[in-house]
Amino acid sequence: MKAGLDLGGTNIQAVVTDGGAEVVGQARRETPREGGPKAVAFELAEALRDALDDAGVEAMALSGIGVGAPGSIDPKAGTVLQAANIEGWVEPFPLARVLEEELSRPVALGNDVTVAVEAERRFGAGRSYDSFLGVFWGTGVGGGIVLDGKVWEGRGSAAEIGHIVARPGGRRCNCGLRGCVEAYAGRGAMEERAREMARRHPTMLFEIQERRGRLRLTSGVWARALEQGDELAHTLIERAVGALGVGIGSAVTLLDIEAVIMGGGFGLRLGEEWLHRVEAATQKHLFRREQPPDFRLAELGDLGGAIGATLIAR
Ligand SMILES: [Zn+2]
Repeated sequence: MKAGLDLGGTNIQAVVTDGGAEVVGQARRETPREGGPKAVAFELAEALRDALDDAGVEAMALSGIGVGAPGSIDPKAGTVLQAANIEGWVEPFPLARVLEEELSRPVALGNDVTVAVEAERRFGAGRSYDSFLGVFWGTGVGGGIVLDGKVWEGRGSAAEIGHIVARPGGRRCNCGLRGCVEAYAGRGAMEERAREMARRHPTMLFEIQERRGRLRLTSGVWARALEQGDELAHTLIERAVGALGVGIGSAVTLLDIEAVIMGGGFGLRLGEEWLHRVEAATQKHLFRREQPPDFRLAELGDLGGAIGATLIAR
């Protein structure tokens, strides 16, 4: 058996699998917003213990644990160098070693999006394609490219669809550039923008957040606001869709891939309806409009990142 942990800017997802696609236990926790990497490592270990309880097995039954982490990582050293979407994670932290000490099993570290794309390629919506672009729409906007049946990593940072420039000179992105897709479509950036705009525009977003006892504007909070016809939420999501269309359209024009597979907490929560709006926004920017790619939701859903992480476990 193997275990996988997916560390997101909002949630931590843990799974225990049979070593393949079958999930035998799972658990989810909120990513701590205080305490930096140490607090995050503690919460990851707790999430894994919850998943082991759910599966009814002991940690010793695991051959290995994989962790998909955001930001820039050094897989060989097991270190997360920095993670812009996690509060207080500004210096390198030896995540794999700390978790090994905590859980007494070998831990391998990989990029969160790369492992999620590999999981979709092997077990999910990517099975029937030789080439596709994975777009993971969550706190940030991550991407992964499969070409000729293989994940293309470039020199380590390929497919950063969230950091394609959608508006030159536009809003400042977490990465330091201006006008990135993520600066409009990342849920973190959208929350920041919603706070600014809420001073002048009425919105239910923050009431819904409070009622649900959330630390952030989660996907569920946004979805509820949309259902209730919240204008500000609508405007910001439309803007996000427009930015995604620019980024995805450019990528498709460049790579001529067969499909776009949308995952990530936000993308999945918004579902088919918004997937098709992103498809329509993309269509506007395609060089060959008569041969658009298929648009599909990630089949492994919320668990894709954690299942993908098991694939790098020993
Ligand atoms: Zn950026």
